[in-house]
Parts: sequence; C-alpha cells; structure tokens
Amino acid sequence: MSLLVIGTLALDKVETPYAARDEALGGSATFFAYAAANFHQVGLVGVIGTDFPASEMARLEAAGVNTGGVESVEGKTFRWGGRYEADWNTRHTLFTDLGVFEHWDPKVPSGLADSRFVFLANAAPAVQAKALDQCTSPEFVMVDTMNLWIEIAKDDLLALLKRVDGIVLNDEEARMLTGENNLIRAAKKVLELGPKYVVLKKGEHGAFLVSEEVHFSLPAYPVENVVDPTGAGDSFAGGFMGYLASARNTDAATLKRAMLYGTVTASFCVEGFSVEELAARHRGQVEARFNELSMITTF
Ligand code: AMP
Repeated sequence: MSLLVIGTLALDKVETPYAARDEALGGSATFFAYAAANFHQVGLVGVIGTDFPASEMARLEAAGVNTGGVESVEGKTFRWGGRYEADWNTRHTLFTDLGVFEHWDPKVPSGLADSRFVFLANAAPAVQAKALDQCTSPEFVMVDTMNLWIEIAKDDLLALLKRVDGIVLNDEEARMLTGENNLIRAAKKVLELGPKYVVLKKGEHGAFLVSEEVHFSLPAYPVENVVDPTGAGDSFAGGFMGYLASARNTDAATLKRAMLYGTVTASFCVEGFSVEELAARHRGQVEARFNELSMITTF
C-alpha cells in the first residue's frame, strides 16, 4: 500500500438553506478515501462505534478502499452537525459528539504501515502524531487541521508540523495559526514552522499552493448547483494526494496537476449530500472535468 489516510469516520447531520440530512456518512478520512480511490488504492485508519452501518463499510470496500485499519469499538460513532448559510461560506457547527473517537488510540496495521504517501486528516494533533509514529517509510506526509485544534492543542500541532511535508489550511486557519491577516505572509510564516508546502483553501475562490519554489493559484471549478459543501476540503486533499501517489512524484509540475485534480474532485463532492456524488464519479468523468478546468484557466 502506498497511500494511507488517518482520520474520522462519522455520521453527520447537515442543514442547508434548501434541505437537510441526518445520519449521513461523513468524516474527514471517509471523504478523503472516496476522493483518493479514483486515483490510487488507499488504506484507511480510523475508529467506528457499533452503531456504524455495515452497509457503509461494504460500500467503502467496494470503492477499493482498504478498511483493514478501521477499528470497531463498543460505543457510538463520531457525530458532527453543521448548518450552512445561503452564501455557502458560512458554516455553523451545531454539535461535535466525539463518541468512540474521544479515547481512540490509533493503530496502523502492518499491511498499511509502510505507506509512502500519508494524509493525517482532521483529528487531534496528538492522535495524528501517534499514527505517524507507526508509519515506517513515509516519503510525503500532509496534515489537515482546524480552528478547534489551533485553539486547544497548538503546541502539539506545532510539534507535528516539524515532521510533515505539507499542510492544507483554509484562510481562517492560516490567519489563526500565524496571527497574519495577509494570506501570502501567513503562508510564508507556515513554511517557517516546518512544512515545505502549504495549500491554502479559499472555498469557492479556489486554492493556492505555496512553497519556496512554487506559487500556484487556481480558482474553484464553477459549480452551478451546490448541494452540500461538507467534505470539500477533505475531498480536495484526496484528489491531490491520490494523484501524487499514482504519479509517485512530487515535483513542481506534478504538484500543479495535483491542484487541478484536487479542485475537480472537490467540485464533485459539493454537488451532492455526503459522499453521494463523490462516490458515484469515475476516473473518466474526473479527466473530462480536469480538461475543462484546464481550458478555462489557461490563455
Ligand atoms: P470539511 O467540510 O472538509 O471540513 O469536512 C467535514 C467533515 O469533517 C464532516 O464529515 C465531519 O464529520 C468531520 N469533522 C467535523 N469536525 C471534526 C473534528 N473536530 N475532527 C475530525 N473530523 C471532523
């Protein structure tokens, strides 16, 4: 296995101005895994409670995800609720019930521990670090985080940043982490904290890749009918890392292509609730949208 994700598997409650869903499949690692599976075989490490639907586990496996690292524990699955405003950019977290995730001690099975590309999806930085400790040959490690962890576990996060190659952050998180309002200065400060690459996600305004050698900005794919933005960041990361793992390369040109694949993958995610649209797309549809995005962003 050469691509691994560690993070949450969840049951989400999502409210938008137009519709709502309860007990929908969610979780940072779930979105990533579905997104990456279009590009490369992906191993998943996470925890579920005994209430997690067996049908969802079977669906993940049918999509090509190796679920050998998903531990089932007596208790309730992680649950999260969110409500979106009509502008789609404003999200209110309604609740976070950690359930079995609260005391989870991640275990990376031997068949997945030698993965070369590792994504530490949104989780407590201490949990992310424990999982990374068990990876025997990581070559390219990316981490995601959120405002909650920057607030309550900043020291753990700063220690982890010294051990990773890249980080994905939204604009609010970049500002919180660095105290810089200007996003370019914020990205440069993040580079000083350890990672060689920073991907700044700006929602419908696209994403920006910053490293010492590369500055690359890409608008979002123009989606006409947004249904549910939940998981857009994780599916961006899944498309991005899935492509890198399939290319077995992280040079500047490959990273730029990965930005397009991440953008396209996220655009499918937001067109449906939960993983509905993301899981339904195949590589041919990804390539078609990749070509379209490439056409509308070059001159
Ligand atoms: P995104 O929209 O990319 O931020 O991802 C949303 C997903 O992350 C939802 O499916 C949630 O279940 C999951 N999630 C929300 N809060 C957390 C958290 N504190 N830690 C890990 N996963 C979370």
